[in-house]
Parts: sequence; structure tokens; C-alpha cells
Amino acid sequence: KPTGAAGTESAILVTVRVRPFNDKEKAHMSPPSPSRFTFGNHMTTPTTTRNNNKAMRKVVHVVDDRILVFDPPEEDNSPFGRTATPAQANKRHKDVRFAFDRVFNEDASQQEVYAGTTQDLIDAILNGFNATVFAYGATGCGKTHTISGTPTDPGIIFLTMKELFEKIRSFESEKIIEASLSYLEVYNETIRDLLVPEGTSAPSLALREDLKHGVVVAGLSEHTPTTVEDVMELVLLGNKNRTQSPTEANATSSRSHAVLQIRIRQKNRAAGLSSDVVCATLSLIDLAGSERASVSKNRGDRLLEGANINRSLLALANCINALCDEKKKRHIPYRDSKLTRLLKFSLGGNCRTVMIVCCSPASTYYEETHNTLKYANRAKNI
Ligand code: ADP
Ligand code: MG
Repeated sequence: KPTGAAGTESAILVTVRVRPFNDKEKAHMSPPSPSRFTFGNHMTTPTTTRNNNKAMRKVVHVVDDRILVFDPPEEDNSPFGRTATPAQANKRHKDVRFAFDRVFNEDASQQEVYAGTTQDLIDAILNGFNATVFAYGATGCGKTHTISGTPTDPGIIFLTMKELFEKIRSFESEKIIEASLSYLEVYNETIRDLLVPEGTSAPSLALREDLKHGVVVAGLSEHTPTTVEDVMELVLLGNKNRTQSPTEANATSSRSHAVLQIRIRQKNRAAGLSSDVVCATLSLIDLAGSERASVSKNRGDRLLEGANINRSLLALANCINALCDEKKKRHIPYRDSKLTRLLKFSLGGNCRTVMIVCCSPASTYYEETHNTLKYANRAKNI
């Protein structure tokens, strides 16, 4: 079937964002020297290849706003046209085309990513439907940049709250709308409040579920920022409180799932006391790095962390698979992890789900990116 046609029929919208090369990656790219193209690099080995043994290459090529190619055969844009050397011709390339509901290339702005993934969800939550946005991908590929961003280049949380505040103001005469937010992390299958004063150690919180309130995290702090600046401050505080642990692969790697939830409660002004309060939650989730524990040579604690991360990501994948198969009335395995228990009423049913798959274009992430794209492709194909 054509990939997620219009993105409306499928239960989940799957998008991919390719981040730009960072400075370190750029420094390891083989410079396009004229000699390389005229004589071929089997004759004149580029210096970067000699120094680093393996030069960096670009392995994710965005074709258009729906299609990308992973590991295409090398092709250069020199005036000499395609000049595959014998060495290049012998190299095996996966050369896989992937189609998604939306693909954002290296140049996409935060605003464009927001507009293509989350903006539509604002009306959904104002109409009483829950919605969830996930950033998925290996550590260092842009999840936190996409969801939180920085004060100078704010991400989805900030852009969402900005628009939400504007909408709430525009409805002021008809409705009383309250927006509150909470921010927690799931780390080693333990839930902690991220919005505690910096340096305070937060206790582990219990999940409760009842018919009236749905899923509740007992003791989680609720905040009611009134300006977008307040929101940014809360997000930065929360991110500082996130559990980071050193591994051999990365100086700091995010091993926690950060869950920001925006809760909307609204009531018509004209209606009497008896009128119903309409509630909805928008969850914006910066998932833990999707790299496998085996990739970094982890021992002891770190290995356990890895197992739990995979458990939550696996449970999430299983829930999404089951939800997309709704016609078959499959059992949805929410209970398999803390993350999926928390999201029980925010996935499936009338909920909107958006996945933003983050990846690096660099060959250093070759295996991670290939796995990430396969995971995303599975989510989309169901
Ligand atoms: P993750 O949360 O997936 O581990 P980050 O969001 O922290 O990754 O991104 C890693 C680095 O790359 C950060 O320094 C971040 O600022 C930068 N980065 C990520 N995505 C982009 C982007 N689209 N544009 C510019 N810089 C980016
Ligand atoms: Mg991060």
C-alpha cells in the first residue's frame, strides 16, 4: 500500500528528521579535491582517509519530503559527473529507499518540524482528544534538540505552548481553559519528577490507575506557566535534572525517557455548574537513546539500564503494533513497561500519535541509523 497516504488513515504518523553534520563529523569528511575526481581516489588517497583510516561519508540522502535513501552508491556532484572508482564500485551499499509520511532534511527549521508534526494536535486536544509525540533515535541524533531545543532555537514544547497560549486567549470570552504541565522521567523503570529544585533528589513515584482519573502519577508536581519564557525555564530545569550517565560510547548519554505532559481542562462560560469539564493531555516524549546496550561496552549497572531501556522501547513498539491492528481486536500490552502504562490512555483509540525519528547523516552512525529506519518503517507499515 502507498505509505501512510495523507497520513490520516493510519493510526500513527511517522516522520523522519535528519540533523545536519556537526563540526566533528565535518572535520572527518574527505575533502572533495579535484584530483580525487579526475584521477580517482585509488590513485591519490585523500589525506583524511590516511589519517583516520576511515573517512566520514553521508549515508542518509533526503530525496524529497517523503523519501530518503539509506547508503546509496557514492555519487559526486563534480562537473566530471559520476566517477565511481574500482574501489567504490566494489564496495557494497545497502541503497535502500524508505518512504515516510514526512521527511525533514538537514535544513528544516524547528518551526517547520513543529508545523509538520505537532501543530495539528493542538486542535485535537482542544477538542478533548489525547495526543502523543515521540522523538525516537540514537543518542546524539537530535531528539532533545527537536523536543526541547535551546532558548535561541526553541523546539516543539515551546512552540506548542506558544500557540496554545494564543488559542486559549482567543477563546477567552467563550471558555475557561486551563493548561498545566508536568515533566517526568522514566529511568530504569522508575518514575521521577523532573521539576524539582535543581540538585534535589526526587523520590520514585507510583503509577495509579482508576476509572475517573485514568493514569495518575502520585505526587507529581503540576505547573501552570503563563508565558513561554516560564515554559522554557521549566524545560531547561527538567533537562538538567535528567539522569545522565557516562558510558564508553558517549561522554553523556540519555538513558531516560523524558515525558512532558500538557493537560487541558476546559468549560463553557455560558454553561452552569453542572456542565462537563473537558480534559485532554498532550504528551511530548524525548525517548532514551535507541542504540543497543551491546554497542557500548557496558558492564554492571549500565547493562541493566540498557535492558530496561530496551524493555520500554520494545513495549512501546509492541503497543503501537497492536494498536495499528485494531480491527483484529488484539490485546494491547500496556502493562509491559512503565512508559506504556503511563501512556495507556494517550495511545490508540481516538488519540493521535506522531513519531519523529531522528537520525544523523554520518556514516559513524551507520548501524544505528539502519536500525532506526527499520524500526520506523515497521511502525509505518502496519
Ligand atoms: P539526542 O537528544 O538525540 O541525544 P541532541 O538533541 O542532544 O541529541 O543533539 C546532539 C547535538 O546535535 C546537540 O549539540 C544538538 O544541539 C545538535 N543538533 C541536533 N539536531 C540539530 C539540528 N536539527 N540542527 C542543529 N543542531 C542540531
Ligand atoms: Mg537527548
